[in-house]
Amino acid sequence: MASADVYLASEPARWKYLDNVRTRSGPHTNPDIFDGKLVAEAMENMKVLVIGAGGLGCEILKNLALSGFKNIHVIDMDTIDISNLNRQFLFRQADVGSFKAEVAARFVQRRVKGVKITPHNCKIQDFDEDFYMQFQLLVCGLDSIEARRWINATLVNMVDEDAEDSYKPLIDGGTEGFKGQARVIIPTVTSCIECQLDMHAPRAAVPLCTLASIPRQPEHCIEWAHVIAWDKEKPFPSLDKDDPEHITWLYQKALIRAHEFKIPGITYALTQGVVKNIIPAIAATNSVIAAACCNEALKIAANCAPCLGFPDENNYMMYSGNDSIYTYTFRHEKKDDCPVCGNLARELIVDLDWTLRELVESFAVRPESQLKKPSIRSDHKTLYMQSPASLEAKSRPNLDKTLAELGLSSGDEIGVTDPAFATVSFKYKLKLQK
Ligand SMILES: [Zn+2]
Repeated sequence: MASADVYLASEPARWKYLDNVRTRSGPHTNPDIFDGKLVAEAMENMKVLVIGAGGLGCEILKNLALSGFKNIHVIDMDTIDISNLNRQFLFRQADVGSFKAEVAARFVQRRVKGVKITPHNCKIQDFDEDFYMQFQLLVCGLDSIEARRWINATLVNMVDEDAEDSYKPLIDGGTEGFKGQARVIIPTVTSCIECQLDMHAPRAAVPLCTLASIPRQPEHCIEWAHVIAWDKEKPFPSLDKDDPEHITWLYQKALIRAHEFKIPGITYALTQGVVKNIIPAIAATNSVIAAACCNEALKIAANCAPCLGFPDENNYMMYSGNDSIYTYTFRHEKKDDCPVCGNLARELIVDLDWTLRELVESFAVRPESQLKKPSIRSDHKTLYMQSPASLEAKSRPNLDKTLAELGLSSGDEIGVTDPAFATVSFKYKLKLQK
């Protein structure tokens, strides 16, 4: 029997258990109006957008198709690299170089009869609000915080209190090594990704003194080679993290130091990982998180059980597989001073002796802002603009002035914009450092 026949023969069995869940009434359905057939039909007509067709995205697409969603769109700008094949299981060697969204859509359509998947080989920023308005549900499987913040700000911006269908639930999955999270955001109703930005704080650096005097982990020895030994000995004019010769030099230095402090575990791969800040992608974590996300999608669409994210409910599930398995689900509160969904200016602790340059640079490292190219205005004037070039040149002299010289004082409000979040102006209220 050809393989296609096998799938056809198993079609009714494939949906049997799903239909048990979505076509029967339960403790959370309203018995007066519940009609199981309508639920299944509504799900089939629902337009769902999947953002990302990588490690998480492949899982999400497959899970949604097998959960009874039949009209799915997927966006991904990337093409398939050979290193994706160990975990992005919708891709084969012959697909290397092709667009992820396109190949993933074709694969799932072939395997799950009746599902239509429309691929978009582009960036999410290439579409406007009209495009996003056509969907009833969005599921994100991204590895970029910037892209998450962009789609979050866009969805919050789209809310029109008088139009119920302008509220687009966003289900967001994320993984980092053995850790992951699944959360549901109802724009302007629950806490949003910007409210939760501190959950993605850049990892704390190891203090230099630990590296210099008492390394405890193999990573400390590698960082020592990277930060201290390289600078002292300058074996090559500048460090190229993709040059095997450079990594080998760091690896050997780290090895000697680890030997001195009797620390095991230094390998070439670890050296490369630490220096390039690579976090291994774990297929099992992706599948757990994608399953949690698609479970939420099914609950939202079929109303068969309470989903994460309803007001006053838990909205954030974190998962850790580092030391055995641990999950914790909690309610992340909405923040009144959230620059995207709140309406109060956020307090910003400053020193009036700082130069504007110091303030500009501080926005990149503050966990609650993480803005890499901020432009700043005060109530009455432009302080610094990153673009266009003419305004940049005109406002550049301000960078060397102190905040006091620029006429700023405690209680003043400033607005900060960044090209990564075109629609958002982050409002801050200055407060003096004690
Ligand atoms: Zn928010």
